[in-house]
Amino acid sequence: MNVLVLNAGSSSQKSCLYNIDTDLPDRPSSPLWEAKVDWPHHQGAAELTVKTASGTVQEALETNSREVVLSRMLTTLWEGKTQVLAQPSDVAVVGHRVVHGGQDYYESIVITPQVKETIARLATFAPLHNPANLEGIVAVERILGTSIPQVAVFDTAFHSQLPLPAAVYPIPYSWFSKGIRRYGFHGISYQYCSQRSAQLLERPLDTLRLIICHLGNGCSLAAIRNGRSIDTTMGFTPLEGLMMGTRSGSIDPGILLYLLREENFSGDELGQMLNRESGLKGVSGVSNDMRQITAAVAANNAQAQLAFDAYIHRLRSAIGGMVATLGGLDALVFTAGVGENSPAVRSAACETLAFLGLELDAAKNQQSPVDQDIATANSAVRVLVVKTEEDWTIAQECWRLVRS
Ligand code: AMP
Repeated sequence: MNVLVLNAGSSSQKSCLYNIDTDLPDRPSSPLWEAKVDWPHHQGAAELTVKTASGTVQEALETNSREVVLSRMLTTLWEGKTQVLAQPSDVAVVGHRVVHGGQDYYESIVITPQVKETIARLATFAPLHNPANLEGIVAVERILGTSIPQVAVFDTAFHSQLPLPAAVYPIPYSWFSKGIRRYGFHGISYQYCSQRSAQLLERPLDTLRLIICHLGNGCSLAAIRNGRSIDTTMGFTPLEGLMMGTRSGSIDPGILLYLLREENFSGDELGQMLNRESGLKGVSGVSNDMRQITAAVAANNAQAQLAFDAYIHRLRSAIGGMVATLGGLDALVFTAGVGENSPAVRSAACETLAFLGLELDAAKNQQSPVDQDIATANSAVRVLVVKTEEDWTIAQECWRLVRS
């Protein structure tokens, strides 16, 4: 079964095609075709990169229209050097990562006109992402036709059973019923990583207490007990919680009141500062990219050192909070760009957890581990590095829904 997955961001669009072996749907496979579109900062142009077994093709597109770009991107599935399908109708189902499912969607769903309306309504909660997700859905309908089923897989769904004390904000309760509550994000990644961790540990998921650290450009933690998310650091939006690449994470709301009252900030200016100019980038003045931060630290850049230390300080204190929520810990799991690739972040995060009996194997931590346990044999807590497979998880959800 050919499953096309679309993962739309505010300034990029990723897509891949899996051929799922219907006898072995649980086994992650490599995509047959992978495409990425970047919209660089100047207007009116996009860069398309398509990768298949026969090589990589790059193309500059002189347009800003998501539909035109998607149309070109999808055409490379059945035309030219990157062709992997005979015709468009060889796509059996299309899965979309949709960031916000609000209180409406607690699991993946086949897209109908009503689902599209709801995703559009929820755009007020996720203004950078839900509109891009919807544009992708509409564009696929126009390009592939309406007879191919499309599925929405929500980033919030995995946290839908968050206990109420973790979900409520301590503001007047009437706001809760209006949707001002903690939702949590990165759920597709948590779903995959929790299942993969149980496989690696050779234990049933419903016996485990896990803390998963999804550390990429966006960063969050989830505390998972018996396979369910019982706490997470992101909340109403993906801005809450840990310090991230360009996002601040949690800050004193009094700062926002001060900037609104005393410095005449508008809502949009606050949004720009907190989403795009803060985090590692804002504190270091160097970059949002952990590779450049660690390089600047090695070159004795004091501000980069401060940014790294603040990132680790917040990560450690959030892990500590999750340990208390779980009442103990079986495994600490690192995933996403930083979690999978930065030995420095992993070792700094683990350093102060020795009191739990957690002991990192320094050599294993350095050896680019993928889907491995990097704790010592004697460690009382396992430490895993798991390569997250969000697109694969979306493809599996499509397979599950189409089959049923
Ligand atoms: P993601 O959002 O999961 O794609 O993660 C992207 C981020 O991962 C980048 O902005 C980098 O900060 C980080 N990253 C990727 N490769 C490395 C690496 N080798 N070392 C440290 N950080 C990395």
